[in-house]
Amino acid sequence: MATHTTKMLIIGSGPAGYSAAIYAARAMLEPIVVQGLQPGGQLTITTDVENYPGFRDVVQGPWLMEEMRAQAEHVGTRMIWDTIVSVDLDHGSPFRAIGDSGDEYIADCLVICTGAQAKWLGAPGEMELGGKGVSACATCDGFFYRGKRVAVIGGGNTAVEEALYLTNHSDNVTLIHRRDSLRAEKILQERLFANPKITVLWNKGVDSFEAGDNGMLHHLALTDTVTGEASTLEVDGAFVAIGHAPATSLFVGKLPMDESGYLLTEPGTPKTVIPGVFAAGDVTDHVYRQAVTAAGMGCMAALDGERFLAARAHAVQEAVAAE
Ligand code: FAD
Ligand code: NAP
Repeated sequence: MATHTTKMLIIGSGPAGYSAAIYAARAMLEPIVVQGLQPGGQLTITTDVENYPGFRDVVQGPWLMEEMRAQAEHVGTRMIWDTIVSVDLDHGSPFRAIGDSGDEYIADCLVICTGAQAKWLGAPGEMELGGKGVSACATCDGFFYRGKRVAVIGGGNTAVEEALYLTNHSDNVTLIHRRDSLRAEKILQERLFANPKITVLWNKGVDSFEAGDNGMLHHLALTDTVTGEASTLEVDGAFVAIGHAPATSLFVGKLPMDESGYLLTEPGTPKTVIPGVFAAGDVTDHVYRQAVTAAGMGCMAALDGERFLAARAHAVQEAVAAE
């Protein structure tokens, strides 16, 4: 068991965490990134990334995150492979966190970048066909299904928005919902029903995702949730849109969250209600959920952290001078 002391502790190693680290290291804050169970974050479980600025050609998610990690280390970040299991925010800065390893982290400021995870159905074939027809992000992967048949599973705002977005690429979009009415806002429902490219399959559950001979998704096996009747739907792409879960269990009762568990920050900033504690990326964003937005928020958190520390140092100097 060791004690690590730092000016800035960054929890999480996705685009938000690595970007915060790059800015903090270049500001000589000697940040520590605790990487968690998924070093590199969500992009390490995808293949093609075509919308992260700076790359003319498609890049691979794991490669992109490896480059971000290397850049953060190159400018002076210390990476630690540990998972934070508890935090003490009650006494203000310095903050204390404990890792799964038993190590203790003492930090003058804290940047929370623990991300969010898409919820999955847990149906056979879903994980095996990830990147081979099954996805949880139409904005990320819809482009790869231009002119093809796609399905979206879910009935909330996300599912309806994903279905509408996919009509930019496909004339054959099916929304599959387990009930006979949508949870999505009425205005989104109106847009959905008015769109001739979208068909809604009501009262259908997805039992499995089935591959064709080429190893890519070929069809969905469905069951009618009312009659029990079985059917199939041939599709090239299926987007699971049944919600996301932010990784915020560590902060329950310690930081304000919305009803879905996303951390609340001062609008337009990564500042939480506790001075010196910042939140960036998907952990605080249920709307955009993109690598580039997470990276941008990580940058903002590091800059605000630097200002917090500078203001505190200045206040100490003034107090000493006044004695
Ligand atoms: P995440 O990437 O979710 O990283 C969270 C980090 O926190 C992880 O490193 C995890 O290990 C760590 N962590 C969690 N809890 C703890 C803890 N207790 N202690 C320490 N560490 C912890 N976006 C795009 O812009 N373009 C795309 O093409 C694209 N494709 C995608 C494809 C898929 C399949 C998925 C799932 C997402 C995709 N996204 C894409 C979305 C993008 O990956 C996310 O918006 C982005 O990764 C969010 O970054 P983040 O840093 O906020 O969090
Ligand atoms: P959500 O509102 O929780 O909806 C999830 C949908 O998936 C529901 O229709 C649910 O069905 C279905 N579902 C859940 N588990 C399922 C399962 N195992 N099998 C089949 N279907 C399943 O999630 P969301 O749409 O991601 O939205 C999350 C939050 O973000 C909401 O507060 C939403 O308003 C907000 N959001 C807002 C916007 C916007 O304002 N433009 C956009 C996106 C999201 P049931 O309906 O039967 O429960």
